[in-house]
This record gives sequence, C-alpha cells and structure tokens, in this order.
Amino acid sequence: MNKINNIIELLQEEFPGLDPKPSKADPLDILIATMLSQNTTDKTSYRAFMNLKNDIGIWDEVLSAPLSRIKSAIRVCGLTNQKSAAIKKLLKELKQKQGKLSLKYLNKLSDEKIYEDLLQYDGVGLKTISCVMAFSLGRDVFPVDTHVHRVTNRLGIANAATPVKTFEQVKDKIPEGKKFLFHTLLIRFGRKICRSQNPLCGSCRLYDLCSFREKEFYAEKQDSMKNKTVPVDNNFIILEHV
Ligand code: SF4
Repeated sequence: MNKINNIIELLQEEFPGLDPKPSKADPLDILIATMLSQNTTDKTSYRAFMNLKNDIGIWDEVLSAPLSRIKSAIRVCGLTNQKSAAIKKLLKELKQKQGKLSLKYLNKLSDEKIYEDLLQYDGVGLKTISCVMAFSLGRDVFPVDTHVHRVTNRLGIANAATPVKTFEQVKDKIPEGKKFLFHTLLIRFGRKICRSQNPLCGSCRLYDLCSFREKEFYAEKQDSMKNKTVPVDNNFIILEHV
C-alpha cells in the first residue's frame, strides 16, 4: 500500500491540478459508451456514441431500430456487427428485466450488488461495470483498461496476463477513497509517459519504483526517439465527457 501511496504522490506532482470528480452521467449512456469503446480510440468511440444519439435518438428508439441502422450509426468505431448486436441485446434484456430502459436503480445498490446485477447481462464485464460505477454512479472504483493494466504490471503492483486479473489483484491494495484518483492518474501517465511503445523511462518520476526489466534500455533509447510520433493507444478517458 505504501508503494501505491508513493506512486499517487509522485503522479500528482507530475500532473498537478488533476483532481478527478466521479461524474454523474446517465449510467445507461456510460454502459453503452463503454461497449463502443472496445478496441478503438476515444475519438472514434465518442463519435459513434454521438451518432447513435443524434441519428436514432433515445434508447427505446435504438431498441426498436433495425440492426442495419444501428450498424450504420456506429460504423466509425469498428467491430460494427459485434457491437450493434451486443447493444441491441443489452437493451432488450434490460427492458425485459426492469420494464424500462434505465439503470438509475443502480444508485440504490451497494458496489457488490451492482457488480452482481450487471454481470447478468451478456457482454458486460468487470471493466465495463467499473466504468459505469466511476463515471455515472460516483463510486470510488478502479476501472482497468489497457493503460492501467500495462502500467500496473510494469510497476510490479500486479503480475497478471489480463486486465480482469489485474483488477482482481490491485483493487483491494489501493487506499480507500483513492481508487478513482489512482485510475485517472495511471491513464494520464500511460498516455503520456509509460506508453505501450517507447515509454519515456529516461524522464520518468517512477523509475526507481518500477520493476520493468527493459526500463534501462528505454531510458537509453529515449534521446533517439525525440521528435518521433507514437500511436495513441485505446482508452476510455473519453467517458468523462459523455
Ligand atoms: S520507468 Fe518506464 S516502464 Fe517504468 S513506469 Fe516509468 S515509463 Fe513506465
């Protein structure tokens, strides 16, 4: 836990002023935005989400719309067949179980019950649920995306092959009240410094705390990487803006 506290302090020095407040966006919006964000960039998933809302409208209309119309609205974000079918199925199941297309009832449930409830829906996993909890229900949780998974494993906080396993290994090690803050700091850090390709180990504040075996190699390489562009990874920080 001390290591995590140290990392939080150092990352707050790196990103002064970053003070994330869990948002209170509509939970169903966040759930669907998260589904659209799989395997794509924040920009395209946000465009797909807005297309869905602007071209079709409220979720009841999306439920009754032909699949082809949903596919066309979200085409920009890829995996169109899979995502459109998953969204339609989710809306159908939600309507059957709750009688209406709303997840606002989750506000009254404990964190544990929310995980239990949403895991009943096909295609909804721990990461998606954590996003809904953090970005719409104001819960202090720790969503694990590709950035968080990569960085926590390099730092030696986790030793896991998948984001789901990382989530299980790390969630209870984070001091209470700091989970969402830690998530947000790691996303920012993973995008700017501990990038998937060519991490900037040479100027990293966490260098001495890091267990990444190749950190010396990348520290030496950093000079030669100056002025080269590096592709931006997938992430779901865009959910903050839904
Ligand atoms: S030293 Fe390199 S690998 Fe380790 S946390 Fe920093 S940027 Fe990431």
